[in-house]
Amino acid sequence: MDVNGRNKYNRATRALSRWWQGLVELFFPRLCLVCGKPLIEGEKFFCLHCDIDMPRTGFHLRPDNAVKDMFWGLVTVERATAYLYYRRKSGFSHTIHLLKYGGRPDIGVELGRAMAAELSATGFFESIDVLVPVPLHRRKQRQRGYNQSEQLANGVATVTGLPVETGAVERCKDTASQTHKSVYERWENVEGIFRLLHPERLAGRHVLLIDDVLTTGATLCACAEAVAQAPGVSISILALATASDG
Ligand SMILES: [Zn+2]
Repeated sequence: MDVNGRNKYNRATRALSRWWQGLVELFFPRLCLVCGKPLIEGEKFFCLHCDIDMPRTGFHLRPDNAVKDMFWGLVTVERATAYLYYRRKSGFSHTIHLLKYGGRPDIGVELGRAMAAELSATGFFESIDVLVPVPLHRRKQRQRGYNQSEQLANGVATVTGLPVETGAVERCKDTASQTHKSVYERWENVEGIFRLLHPERLAGRHVLLIDDVLTTGATLCACAEAVAQAPGVSISILALATASDG
């Protein structure tokens, strides 16, 4: 086939795929994950209205914020932010629930991409060398089929071009769920749950630790402490959401 023929063929294939997509959506409309209304072309998981209404924290514009405060006196952190506020039973918390327990890793990639697009405009990723998602215990990752923080990191990577490092730190203890624990119990529960397996992969680099939802910050802090054992490492923090008001 000559160049002209190939172009015609490509155009026809694209038109056919759009037609098919339109037909599928007629019978199985894609719905906004927050409000449930049908999505229009160009909207991926959220309608424009819910996208605008997302409870953004704007913490990346304030060097001293509630997320950075979580690490004060425990681990030295260069920059820290959470993209959204987490409110129980809000439309958005349902989306996070799907990401964590509903077998929807694609939501993580999309949210990672969304937060990176907003944060990169303010220089949040400047001097960062590598993205490190907070690891899950092997058993939990097998059950779930994926690590939601790694999916967020993959989304961030598509925008920033930064590498994702998943093998340097491991979660060596499978802790019970933190949900029903007191603040004190949460901090006790995370003692020694992470281990730095490959300090040489992080040594001398600026690591951006990526997590999903922060409540007390105990788990992420334990992970940061493990990463901090790599010689000459510096650490920044990016979480999808925080339960803190700050
Ligand atoms: Zn919506």
